[in-house]
Amino acid sequence: RIREEETIRRRLHNTIQELKGNIRVFCRVRPVSSSVNGSKNETATASIRYPDIEGRQIEFAHATETATGSQVAKAYPFTFDRVFQPSSTQEDVFEEISQLVQSALDGYNVCIFAYGQTGSGKTHTMEGPLNASAESMGMIPRSVLQIYESAKTLEAKGWTYSMEGQYVEIYNETVNDLLGNDGLNGGKKHEIRHADGKTTITDITTVVLTSPEKVAALLKKAAHNRSVGSTLMNERSSRSHCVFTLRLSGKNSITDESSEGVLNLIDLAGSERLSQSGAKGDRLKETQAINKSLSALSDVISAIANPNANAHVPYRNSKLTYLLQNSLGGNSKTLMFVNISPLRSNFNETLCSLRFATKVNACTIGTATKRTIAK
Ligand code: ADP
Ligand code: MG
Repeated sequence: RIREEETIRRRLHNTIQELKGNIRVFCRVRPVSSSVNGSKNETATASIRYPDIEGRQIEFAHATETATGSQVAKAYPFTFDRVFQPSSTQEDVFEEISQLVQSALDGYNVCIFAYGQTGSGKTHTMEGPLNASAESMGMIPRSVLQIYESAKTLEAKGWTYSMEGQYVEIYNETVNDLLGNDGLNGGKKHEIRHADGKTTITDITTVVLTSPEKVAALLKKAAHNRSVGSTLMNERSSRSHCVFTLRLSGKNSITDESSEGVLNLIDLAGSERLSQSGAKGDRLKETQAINKSLSALSDVISAIANPNANAHVPYRNSKLTYLLQNSLGGNSKTLMFVNISPLRSNFNETLCSLRFATKVNACTIGTATKRTIAK
């Protein structure tokens, strides 16, 4: 019976996967900030409409104030798998990804990305605020909590799981340990290795997650490590990718089955177009590293979605794609949040983000008419 249930569960997963494809894109619009901090004028917003009741469309337009009210220029419509309005809560968002999170317990490799310009809500979505309340917790702690709960339920069916967490930063194409005891500049070099479909990073801290409380401590430690050696924490995190990895190994004492799943939650570097002209020294290096890795990610997703035309998937073009090699493509599942700002002053960047996300969305396997994405 247990075996039967398992089979049904897997089959259901596969059906969902076939229907929706391996790559999904959710758009999340952050609210206008209520804290008015001097220079920040968050009152001038773009005109945003959500025309459909299914919550999949967004219409974005530049608005100008005139004597007779606000006038909307050309509107840009976009469709995603889901659009979250500013009023959406963390719980609303998690509800839509919980199945995907769950599939890591069934042995799938899952990647969930947050893409968007600095200040668009990526970290809020993934981690949530530091010392978050139950309501404001982000996707990382929520995912771990859910996996705990599910693992507990699956115990009755013979499953025992071990859970290990890692948290790394990729900054200037170098992997740093966010959970190390000697800060980010401990002098350790971390190499990415692949063997038998498994990815390891040399000398990296691995935390055995024996209780949900450990996750909050882990996020705090990462925040502390990020802030050390950088004048502005935000500055640094906007220029690096943060990859949280949860490894789940399950063994069933009744059926003798085993499963190995990996859940990656990735807070990407700010996508704002960084001009190379004018940038010098460290800034230029950072800019080049970010541009390179974000376009490598887009190339890899495009190659995966178009397996016949592109036998070669260029994972090795950046540390980020190389690290995630085993979790992108093949039988794995990918979700990308495109986080956007409602502000008029961010209009052009937002449009760029929405266009990038549209290209990623067009990669959904099975939609023969949308097969290639241009760079
Ligand atoms: P990013 O990581 O993309 O640079 P942040 O997550 O740091 O952006 O968000 C920028 C600011 O907006 C933060 O102060 C954050 O708390 C706030 N914020 C972002 N998204 C939301 C949201 N959905 N609800 C409430 N506040 C948010
Ligand atoms: Mg951030």
